[in-house]
Amino acid sequence: MSKKTVLVSGGAGFIGSHVTVELIAAGYDVVVADNFSNCDHTCFEGVKKITGREDLPLEVVDFCDAAATDALFAKYPIDAVIHFAAFKAVGESVAEPVKYYKNNLTSFLNVLETAQKRGGCNVLFSSSATVYGEPEKVPVTEQTPRQPATSPYGNTKTMCEDILRDTVKANGGKIKGILLRYFNPIGAHPSALIGELPRGVPNNLVPYITQTAIGKRECLNIFGNDYPTPDGTCQRDFIDIVDLAKAHVYAVTRMVEGKMKQDCEVFNVGTGRPLSVMELVNAFEKVNGVKLNYKFAPRRAGDITAIWADPTLAETEMGWKATRTIEETLKAAWAWECHLAGK
Ligand code: UDP
Repeated sequence: MSKKTVLVSGGAGFIGSHVTVELIAAGYDVVVADNFSNCDHTCFEGVKKITGREDLPLEVVDFCDAAATDALFAKYPIDAVIHFAAFKAVGESVAEPVKYYKNNLTSFLNVLETAQKRGGCNVLFSSSATVYGEPEKVPVTEQTPRQPATSPYGNTKTMCEDILRDTVKANGGKIKGILLRYFNPIGAHPSALIGELPRGVPNNLVPYITQTAIGKRECLNIFGNDYPTPDGTCQRDFIDIVDLAKAHVYAVTRMVEGKMKQDCEVFNVGTGRPLSVMELVNAFEKVNGVKLNYKFAPRRAGDITAIWADPTLAETEMGWKATRTIEETLKAAWAWECHLAGK
């Protein structure tokens, strides 16, 4: 069978670069497309090194440009597209909703419009556990009702889920869709050649931890220790980035090999293991032998108390499950920060 081609929009970013590595390892041809609005070339260069693919196609494209999107699909024989290209800062989305809705919706609509014009495609959308809001019951399954999003960013995820579902329905099986709902992706590739590269002050916990440990930030604020959880800090489902990337390979393979049971499917991508912020901080210190300067601070507005996945469906349907331990993940995150610091 000839090799299948996967277009990875936003393929030079944190998740996109790890997914590209795993797709290539699984034998796919990959086209990386990115407009580099929120990342530089570091991860793309890292991907080329890890895979030994100096010739890996890179297209500098803004998916908000419909003509450029059409041209990209005309240039390559694309069997599936994984759509990551989107703005992702929750706080910024609250301050600049128009920018977020315009970018995140337009780029996805352009991909779908092009797919429609070309007679169909397999489309994988990167959704988020944010669509579950503050769940009444944990763990959450794919059947857990979605809740109104608490930010424009979260809203774009819910809206894109609906847009894909409706588009699949209207296209009589020609467009197939998979929605992957990520929990909290953390860590880095074990090679320490690719990882998370936040611009400015990190919003997310693990980059904040590693930057504090390396001395770039003075002190980690742990937002709230009075939550109704065992140790008072929030609980999350922290999923290793390499495990998460592999879930995309399983999903793409399911699509291109015609193994889907419905034309639009949804899977949680998490470990099923809750970990509190405090437990994560303790594990980071222990596994890496570093002391972290941290203090308890007031709760952060909009934070959910506790959420973790029931990942059973991804395992029974796709054969995917997370395998990396939190120790391996936190070691990789630290190795990446040290690599960036030249240590
Ligand atoms: N968090 C924290 N200090 C930080 C960043 C995050 O205590 O500097 C906490 C945050 O309150 C939440 C958890 O870490 O309970 C995960 O936050 P993150 O922003 O990484 O992901 P989220 O779950 O909000 O998508």
